[in-house]
Amino acid sequence: MLKINNVTIKLKSFHLKIDLTIKPKSITAVIGPSGSGKSTLFDMIGGFNQLDSGSIIWENNDIGNLEPAQRPITVLFQDNNLFPHLNTYQNVALGLTTKLKNHEKFKYKIDNALEKVDMLEHSNKYPSELSGGQKGRTALARALVRKKPLLLLDEPFSALGPGLRREMLNLVKEISHKNKLTVMIVTHDPAELADVCQDVIVVAENTATGPYHLQELLKNPPKSLSDYL
Ligand code: ADP
Ligand code: MG
Repeated sequence: MLKINNVTIKLKSFHLKIDLTIKPKSITAVIGPSGSGKSTLFDMIGGFNQLDSGSIIWENNDIGNLEPAQRPITVLFQDNNLFPHLNTYQNVALGLTTKLKNHEKFKYKIDNALEKVDMLEHSNKYPSELSGGQKGRTALARALVRKKPLLLLDEPFSALGPGLRREMLNLVKEISHKNKLTVMIVTHDPAELADVCQDVIVVAENTATGPYHLQELLKNPPKSLSDYL
């Protein structure tokens, strides 16, 4: 279980209060208007923003003061850029090491992650030779290779069309179930996640709270969300 207790974050003119609990081995959607703090929430959980108060508890340990690399978390950011001069295999290797010379000893893990997203046969291709969906799969493999139990996806497939996005979300569902991952995923279209998850965190009016039941929230949204939805 991930518990974020009364955390406050202050960035220059923006502040966010966070109080929420995420069920283990679940997929939870994160919704809220643009600029409401969804990425800031992920930065905070990932360790890229300092807490002003409160705690982050993962499986009974306070991880709120750990360095990002020490946390049990991988964040896949919105722009999920692949390096154009590196092939699929090398892009995934970067999830494990910044020293590409060293990657031979990780070959088994890298191939394993590529296999999970069905990209093994494209290991030698460069991003310019891949379709949008294949790029998305590669970025997902780079996140999976780290084998962290918490996977935070910040609108990772927003560049894809609805059909491919659905396919990627189903892949996330399948992989997270098989690997017992706890997943949080930012989306602009919560209805799109109806097949994938039931819980939703709402980020609006400088607070992040939940989880709420997705279907009930869609039926009866709070005022802070009704315009947005
Ligand atoms: P969302 O992901 O929900 O669109 P963000 O978390 O990116 O929103 O941004 C929330 C607010 O925090 C915005 O007003 C943004 O301008 C501000 N913000 C984000 N990062 C920083 C930063 N490093 N310093 C100051 N303000 C920031
Ligand atoms: Mg964002």
